[in-house]
Amino acid sequence: MSGKVIGGAVIGYGGMGGFHSEKMQSVDGVELLGVYDIDPERNELAESRGIHAYPSREALLADPKIGLVTVATPNDVHREIVIAALAAGKNVICEKPVAMDSAELEEMIAAANRYGRLFTVHQNRRWDEDYLTMRKIVEAGELGNAYRIESRVHGSRGIPAGWREEKAHGGGMVLDWGVHLLDQMLTMMGDRKLLSVYATMTNITNDECDDGFTAQVKFENGPEWIVEVGTCNYIEMPRWYAFGDSGSLIIRNWDCDGEIVKIYNRGEDDVPPVLAGAGLTRTMAPRNEQTVEKFPIERVKSDWAEYYRNVIATLNGKAEIVVTHDQLRRSMKLIEAVFESARKNEVVKF
Ligand code: NAD
Repeated sequence: MSGKVIGGAVIGYGGMGGFHSEKMQSVDGVELLGVYDIDPERNELAESRGIHAYPSREALLADPKIGLVTVATPNDVHREIVIAALAAGKNVICEKPVAMDSAELEEMIAAANRYGRLFTVHQNRRWDEDYLTMRKIVEAGELGNAYRIESRVHGSRGIPAGWREEKAHGGGMVLDWGVHLLDQMLTMMGDRKLLSVYATMTNITNDECDDGFTAQVKFENGPEWIVEVGTCNYIEMPRWYAFGDSGSLIIRNWDCDGEIVKIYNRGEDDVPPVLAGAGLTRTMAPRNEQTVEKFPIERVKSDWAEYYRNVIATLNGKAEIVVTHDQLRRSMKLIEAVFESARKNEVVKF
């Protein structure tokens, strides 16, 4: 590891703050100097784990040894804390969703530009192996021309209690899991023009915030996407389903169990009609082994620590930041369109 070691700190020492603190202690090039949480009990917990807890946010931001601050608080206070940290001359990683809306995001980007500091967001799920595996298979053309990709996560416990079920704090599943799945999709689609989105939401376990949503997203010259988050489903659905004109892919879970089925000899499959329910069908008859072949999934390996390594290398002038402001803008606009579409029950065009 070359380049100087950057002093790191975490604001918000909850679930994710604990994760970032551990990572800052394990990734080369950054050294965890301390944390601050508004809840004294969380600071005591940090101290009991041998991590210095600053007495206030101001004290943390005034420490000249700190060069990088990760903000891991609930969503509604990201903007204020990020801007305060940038104004104090710190480089900042903010947890997702970066902000409550595009207006907040623009204020944060303006502050980063004004104070000349790095400001980026922890879009860690770009390093998910199931996502990278699906992406590699589709981009290699293994399914032929991919025309539809379905990305789903389903839980069965509703929205977790606490700030995630309150609108004022940026609760709900669009801002929680949706932001990850939509970011994966946008990153894979690259420069393709976003055409439209149609979204619906569920309020099964929670009236105030969406506890699930389905978004149908269309791109110019790209596959149509279905992105879905549910929290009230007791039968597991596949994490990924992708369809091309010469193959289909299923990835069932985060462990990448699944298969690819490719078709051969499309014309030589002259099957007789089969009984399907109360009628006959040739169209829906299953394929025989002479015309299709199954392939196992080769899991793409990835290392989440690449995220911090990219931030550190960028701060040392040796890399370009991977999670950029323009990507964040595009993602936030799409999230706003998801809410608008669901509210109006209309397709939103870009
Ligand atoms: P959490 O409730 O477990 O922790 C949040 C902590 O922030 C709490 O300890 C709370 O006391 C503290 N806090 C609240 N307001 C504060 C303030 N003004 N100043 C300092 N501390 C404050 O929540 P969490 O699950 O850790 O989520 C935190 C953030 O991380 C959210 O933005 C969430 O969306 C994000 N998150 C990201 C991932 C991921 O995979 N990238 C996973 C989970 C959560």
